[in-house]
Amino acid sequence: MTLDLRDRIRDVPDFPTPGIVFKDLMPLIADPEYYAQTIHDLADWCRPREPDLILGAEARGFIFGGALAYALGAGFIAARKPGKLPRETVEATYALEYGTDSLQVHRDAVSPGARVIVLDDVLATGGTARAKVELVEELGGVVSGVVFVLELTFLGGRDRLTGYDVHSLVQY
Ligand code: AMP
Repeated sequence: MTLDLRDRIRDVPDFPTPGIVFKDLMPLIADPEYYAQTIHDLADWCRPREPDLILGAEARGFIFGGALAYALGAGFIAARKPGKLPRETVEATYALEYGTDSLQVHRDAVSPGARVIVLDDVLATGGTARAKVELVEELGGVVSGVVFVLELTFLGGRDRLTGYDVHSLVQY
């Protein structure tokens, strides 16, 4: 039986700032069946796109991305907050639904021509995903897909990813 992932996604009003309804995926990650199905469904979409690497950002991007990479037999590369990665990095700064942020990736994380799937838990305004796509391309990688567990369609994040192969498992 296919599980409805929405059954393990909780709305948290006014977090982290007033007016934002935060989609909390921790109950989904904590439930073995829902977590397994999420990784399975992500992997089914990613497999034909033949990724060499999955790129995920801390922290939830690590939780989904590591398991997804393992399921696909791909490698995982980390996008991290500034100052966390020990070697030379490239950096992108972007606007969030709430505030701005920056992400860094090791300069040698992507071999030229490597096929990379950009993963995130939530597609909101698309700024984070766009920044990760740009980092992959700056490093000479090919973005073979951009995938999310959850998409907030009313924020129009897909418009920031025009021209890329974009997919989400659950839409609100
Ligand atoms: P954005 O760059 O606006 O697409 O935001 C995407 C990132 O911000 C994702 O990595 C989410 O973790 C986080 N995020 C933004 N809005 C929400 C929300 N309403 N609920 C949960 N996470 C969110």
